[in-house]
Amino acid sequence: MNSNTAMNHQRLSDRIINMGESATLKMAQLARELTAQGHKIISLSLGEPDFDTPEHIKKAASKALEDGYTKYTPVAGLLELRQAICTKFERDNKLKYTATQIVVSNGAKQCIANLSMSLLQEGDEAIVLSPYWVSYKEIIELSGAVPVFVKGSIEQDFKATAAQVSSAITANTRMLIFSSPCNPTGSVFTREELKAIADVLVDHPQITIVSDEIYEYINFTGEPHISIAEFDFIKDRVVIVNGFSKGFAMTGWRLGYIAAPQWIADACVKMQGQFTSGAASFSQKAAVTALLADLTPSFKMTEEFHKRRDLFVKLLSEIPGFKVNNPTGAFYVFPDVSYYYGKADGSHKINNADDLCDYLLYTGHVALVSGDAFGAPECVRLSYSLGQEDLREAVKRIREAVLKLS
Ligand code: PMP
Ligand code: GLU
Repeated sequence: MNSNTAMNHQRLSDRIINMGESATLKMAQLARELTAQGHKIISLSLGEPDFDTPEHIKKAASKALEDGYTKYTPVAGLLELRQAICTKFERDNKLKYTATQIVVSNGAKQCIANLSMSLLQEGDEAIVLSPYWVSYKEIIELSGAVPVFVKGSIEQDFKATAAQVSSAITANTRMLIFSSPCNPTGSVFTREELKAIADVLVDHPQITIVSDEIYEYINFTGEPHISIAEFDFIKDRVVIVNGFSKGFAMTGWRLGYIAAPQWIADACVKMQGQFTSGAASFSQKAAVTALLADLTPSFKMTEEFHKRRDLFVKLLSEIPGFKVNNPTGAFYVFPDVSYYYGKADGSHKINNADDLCDYLLYTGHVALVSGDAFGAPECVRLSYSLGQEDLREAVKRIREAVLKLS
């Protein structure tokens, strides 16, 4: 066999060739590699709490292993966990679900994949409120559908309005997806804003609303979390996506879940049954403890994120040319940095957010993610899941680097 023939056998599918790589994971990996080479990188790239998983949750996992929770679980998740999730919904959101409406997956990311693969096909459109979390676009495209972005500008606190949603709906729209609190903007939709969107969607019964609430507990508004599922007239069309990664600092445990109308939950179980089966058994046992034990450790993390938000937003706003809004949830700041596009420091020309991120990484040794991947090429995303000293140092480095640009 000559090398050409061998090459010809190495054909990847159009599906994977056309798929964009996760920009968040890519930047985090690059930061790790540079760190391994000895560079002192401050990474503000990954959306991952820097806190360790609370001790009582880790203990519950150890006990689960000792108790022999080492086997497959039902595809939808342990009944005990699904019941605990129902308890959580009643306690935190005043929402009633039965255990059969809950599907536990390997992270909220898989929940979104299950939903897109189950609900969307060629010819469909999915409205994505933008700026949006990176993976929504790629997952929707993988399902064959077309993402339709409805963008909120920084002046509107990055929140798309009900009127904008209304004008994006066509006969082909099958899904609308958004996160609140939002990754990447940190914005939180108010009850009135969500009600206005629900009022628009009620007239379009073919649209399933996917409400990604993974940052539910990281909310600085002083108001309780609001889910669009709280509006009774639309609840039977809403799927809530949530998970353990953010609120309980459990990113590595790979656990997310949905609460869905029964027909959608059944479809997701069928889909997951062919892809990954159930999530890890001992993670699920620990998650029962996470949900039902005292939530003080989660609220303490949120308090710390709140303090960091105050500090970080203040410091970033003092950098000339940075346009910063005040995020009220999650742990990201998403400044408009387009002031620097077209500027150069002699050897580096900054044409866009990607260039600025590269420049800051290699010159300033700070890793951020370009807003391009989130539908906002005028912005960059900075995750403040680092201690206050590191945040101060990061801003100092960013400031010094951008001030060299003219
Ligand atoms: N949704 C949003 C908005 C996110 O930021 C993330 C990233 N953690 C996820 C879903 C996926 O989370 P995980 O798969 O870790 O549960
Ligand atoms: N969701 C996080 C982020 O936005 C983690 C990385 C990922 O899963 O994309 O950075």
